[in-house]
Amino acid sequence: MTRRVIVAANWKMNGDSALVDSMISGLSDMESSNVEVIICPSFPYLSDLNQKIKAADLDNIIQVGSQTVSKFVGGAHTGEVSTTMLNDLSIKYVIVGHSERRSVYNETSEQVASKVHAVLDAGLNPILCIGETEAERADGKIESVLLSQIQPVIDEIGIERFSDVVISYEPVWAIGTGKAASSAMAQETHYFIRQLIAKQSKQVAANISLLYGGSVNAANCEELFAQPDIDGGLVGGASLQAEQFKIICSAA
Ligand code: PGA
Repeated sequence: MTRRVIVAANWKMNGDSALVDSMISGLSDMESSNVEVIICPSFPYLSDLNQKIKAADLDNIIQVGSQTVSKFVGGAHTGEVSTTMLNDLSIKYVIVGHSERRSVYNETSEQVASKVHAVLDAGLNPILCIGETEAERADGKIESVLLSQIQPVIDEIGIERFSDVVISYEPVWAIGTGKAASSAMAQETHYFIRQLIAKQSKQVAANISLLYGGSVNAANCEELFAQPDIDGGLVGGASLQAEQFKIICSAA
């Protein structure tokens, strides 16, 4: 796949039917652009949001994504949701390996790799989240941590298919803290990620979309998105308000 500009909203375990409705009306004047806009609500709202986007004629501008998925395609997995189900609902994107899934639900990089594989096999688009903690940054381990999160995925799917993965670099210390990485710091890490991939394929490194996530808001988005190796953002808190989210999308 070629390099794309993407802004994805990660609602996390927030929102309700009223948020779905207010987002549809708040985003109704959005115009089509070169930015792919994705909204990822919790499972119960996927279908409703998708149908309302279509009904509002916004489906050429906004896509719907899930926040996680099972690596299994079906069967005895109580509480899980499969890629087959997401396909059935015409969901196109899946966030995989968000730091909250890794730290709170103990998802390992190997499990994340299996999920990316399942998502690609189902014809869906994975958004793979990676990022170091504050302690890992302080210990000078950023590069080894990012490699340990990326390499199992490349080993699992192969470098050629890796260009179909969207990466979101989200330093854990910046998520939900209001302390976004500076644009220089984010650019430096994005450049490192692209170089790391380039060692395995220059073409994949040039084509892969690298998003930044972690306290992106209407005030800092422009500077972050202006960096040469930042291709958009994954937005948590600021994506819950239509006006702020629109500003972020138009800055990309
Ligand atoms: P935040 O979350 O924008 O609220 O920091 C980003 C994320 O976790 O994807």
